[in-house]
Amino acid sequence: MHNIVYSVVVPLYNEELVVKESYKRLKDVMDTTCENYEIIFINDGSIDKTRNITEELCNKDEKIKLINFSRNFGHQCAITAGMENSVGKAVIVIDADLQDPPEVMLEMIKKWKQGYDVVYGKRAKREGESFFKKFTAKSFYRLLKNMTSIDIPVDTGDFRLIDRKVCNTLNSLPERNRYVRGLVSWVGYKQTFVEFVRHERFAGDSKYPLKKMMKLAFDGITSF
Ligand code: UDP
Ligand code: MG
Repeated sequence: MHNIVYSVVVPLYNEELVVKESYKRLKDVMDTTCENYEIIFINDGSIDKTRNITEELCNKDEKIKLINFSRNFGHQCAITAGMENSVGKAVIVIDADLQDPPEVMLEMIKKWKQGYDVVYGKRAKREGESFFKKFTAKSFYRLLKNMTSIDIPVDTGDFRLIDRKVCNTLNSLPERNRYVRGLVSWVGYKQTFVEFVRHERFAGDSKYPLKKMMKLAFDGITSF
């Protein structure tokens, strides 16, 4: 029987410039909880050195699990695989590039301990992103909200904490082209949020080109 309290799920696609620093920051923050945790990296078919670097980290720290995909399946598939392979009582999904500040995980944990089942990160401000990215994101979240009866919060990505029971429910859904942030709203439970400032990427470029953004938007709209 394991005693893992937190599973931190981190998708990686060509993040060779980021993964070491990301691990360090996540570890520093999670160590302060003084509770047991696992970090699950999902290497989404990277074609740079992400796999080697992450395997090295894995060999040094038994808290790390690594899932290597056979090709690039996309962010939503990566976080889904992470959630399916997690065992913690709470699961936290966070981007690798430190745009989601790891320290905010502690605020999420606090709310979870107060009895919330889902704590999502709401972007109060976005720094270091292009006008185009901010404009398309803002418009898309509002468009989707107007199109659906499901209360999907605006300006919210996949940075969130979910309780084990929510994770199990999500894992049981048969959806293929998953819009995970929508599914989390759809399943219900006691939900709340913490606000944070989304920083600039630690290094490298966005791994979400227009084509991938459109697929995500399409999946969100057709699913909900
Ligand atoms: N990512 C992934 N597969 C992809 C694209 C992105 O696993 O096909 C990961 C990426 O490594 C990062 C997260 O998903 O951890 C969010 O991607 P990114 O930061 O590039 O998106 P943006 O913040 O620019 O929207
Ligand atoms: Mg990013």
